[in-house]
Amino acid sequence: MSKVIIDKEICKGCGLCISACPKEALSISKIQNSKGFFHAEVACPEKCTSCTFCGLVCPDIAIKIYK
Ligand code: SF4
Ligand code: SF4
Repeated sequence: MSKVIIDKEICKGCGLCISACPKEALSISKIQNSKGFFHAEVACPEKCTSCTFCGLVCPDIAIKIYK
């Protein structure tokens, strides 16, 4: 089973990972991190195929993907 971990304190909520995900597994949280950013979160982990697109596009290397 795949697992995507987003470090909410590194994420600045740019949304690039959400646009890159072909499975629409990610979304923006309604909760802000300590810096005031609405960070990305894994809304539908069961949809993830571990394609790694989200991790590749994240400019802040906030996403880790485990297979
Ligand atoms: S690894 Fe692929 S399917 Fe999974 S959340 Fe990232 S972009 Fe979406
Ligand atoms: S691409 Fe990175 S910084 Fe941008 S919303 Fe996704 S996890 Fe956050």
